[in-house]
Amino acid sequence: MNKAEVKLLLADVAAIDNRRVSDETVTAWTAVVGHLSLPVAQKALVMARQDEKVDYLEPKHIVARARDARMAIDRSPAERAEEANWRSDPEPICVPHDTRITQCKPCIALLVKHTEHMTNDQRHRWSNEHIGFKN
Ligand SMILES: [Zn+2]
Repeated sequence: MNKAEVKLLLADVAAIDNRRVSDETVTAWTAVVGHLSLPVAQKALVMARQDEKVDYLEPKHIVARARDARMAIDRSPAERAEEANWRSDPEPICVPHDTRITQCKPCIALLVKHTEHMTNDQRHRWSNEHIGFKN
């Protein structure tokens, strides 16, 4: 994250505990959490906020949860693909990559991008048309 992104993150922090966020605050936080991406830091922030043991939120609380946050973010698209009941037996194999659909990153990325707001039926139809599956 650059300082602008850390400032965004700190706006979320301040929204809950009303802390004052100065330029110095942003600089100090950037030194500690600047190596993280904004989505990972935001997810880690939510996780830290949900932890009853965290009272006054410090940047170390976010760093400590970065790994879990990254895993949670990576897992989400696969879970969404799974929602479409593809873990049925046998699991469909995509034509372009010859890979099981819940394991195929490019296809999952496509599905997330194009079918996010579709019902399961629509999503099945879309993927049969645009990806194709082997029998
Ligand atoms: Zn694929």
